[in-house]
Amino acid sequence: MKILAIANQKGGVAKTTTAVNLAAFLGHMGKQVLLIDLDPQANATSGLGIDRDKVEKSIYNVLIGQESLESIIIESPTSGVSVAVSTLGLVGAEVELVNTDRREFRLADAINQNASRNRYDLVIIDTPPSLGLLTLNAMTAADSVLIPMQCEYYALEGLAQLYKTIQLVRKKTNPSLAIEGLLFAMVDMRSNLTVQVMEEVKKFLKDKVYETVIPRNIRLAEAPGFGKPILSYDRSSKGADAYERLAKEFLARSAPAQVSEAPAPAESISQPQEVATP
Ligand code: ATP
Ligand code: MG
Repeated sequence: MKILAIANQKGGVAKTTTAVNLAAFLGHMGKQVLLIDLDPQANATSGLGIDRDKVEKSIYNVLIGQESLESIIIESPTSGVSVAVSTLGLVGAEVELVNTDRREFRLADAINQNASRNRYDLVIIDTPPSLGLLTLNAMTAADSVLIPMQCEYYALEGLAQLYKTIQLVRKKTNPSLAIEGLLFAMVDMRSNLTVQVMEEVKKFLKDKVYETVIPRNIRLAEAPGFGKPILSYDRSSKGADAYERLAKEFLARSAPAQVSEAPAPAESISQPQEVATP
């Protein structure tokens, strides 16, 4: 079983869209996937067709030690995909856990204690747009991090900050945390900035960057409104095609235990003269 955290502290970069659609295609390909929704917005829960207003116990109850992980898992309508659901109440967890024991290990402990953990080939954790305690729990529990990113002006700055957090997690709570891959999502190849940002990121993360690129596609934005992954909403869309290719590329690679990465990226592409020289 592999545990994958999908993280980027920047909001709206397609973390949830990637978590839901990667899970759906992998489920469709015969894998058993558990999606843990660790975001109080509960977008992955509703995006997979689960009515969050009907959820009585959620990952919140697990993190504060009231419930086992197993007891809050719901089968989604998508084959092979189960969900550890979230609710807005999860907002409180960050505050409530502050003074508790092993606060960064709450999720890792719950996964390890899960009696049915061997049922799953893959656990995907969707995280909120912050580097707070919830995201730290995800990174502490995970084998690797998948980073979705948009090609925009401040993207590199955000990536540098995320990278620092990953290094901190390696030092403090999870020495073997790997970078699974970086995914360019919501891409518009007509923009010069897109190409420029992609080149900068590739200098830094090299072959960690997925060849698959997710284009901006309106069908991907519509699907959550129907509580469906793109696979069920519009199988013939460009978005579905892209996420299917991502799922295949994901399976074809696996994160090596030893990671070799270049030094942190320059904070901004606006100052190329500041890129470190040997
Ligand atoms: P948050 O940080 O708030 O959790 P997120 O990183 O999970 O956001 P999403 O919710 O997946 O991001 O995506 C943000 C918005 O962009 C959503 O409305 C989503 O439907 C839309 N979206 C995601 N990917 C695409 C795409 N490739 N083309 C068009 N719209 C997209
Ligand atoms: Mg999200």
